[in-house]
Amino acid sequence: MGEDLKAQALPADHVRITTDTSTEPFWQAAKEKRLVAPKCADCGTFRLPPTPFCPECQSTNVDWTQLSGRATVFSFSVVHGFPGLPDITLVPAILDLPDAPGARLVSNVVDVDPEKVEIGMQVEVLFSPISDGWLLPLFRPTVRG
Ligand code: ZN
Repeated sequence: MGEDLKAQALPADHVRITTDTSTEPFWQAAKEKRLVAPKCADCGTFRLPPTPFCPECQSTNVDWTQLSGRATVFSFSVVHGFPGLPDITLVPAILDLPDAPGARLVSNVVDVDPEKVEIGMQVEVLFSPISDGWLLPLFRPTVRG
């Protein structure tokens, strides 16, 4: 039960993103440590991952809505090792976003013993540096006071 058992993020130089007009606002907001989700400006459907057209009404109008950063683990896996990083443990997860019903975000859960991660666990966003000056939203267990 040492520190080395905690789920980690990949080192910054291992994570590179590409953006396009549909996804760039998400990454620009992340750079400002804000978690946002695209919501159809016409019918209100959240469309995450971002899509050029609303799947419900085909509208191209988007309101980028700022979220609280809270999420719930919908599903996850535990991955030991990564090419070139045999000692790393990763917990990639699909997260439900309570303030964006219907939207799901793929991210990683960090700062936790992987054996303690469970479906339904409450997590909150943090932002981790990646390549080219971007910040990647990651999630850790919500600190309960
Ligand atoms: Zn729509």
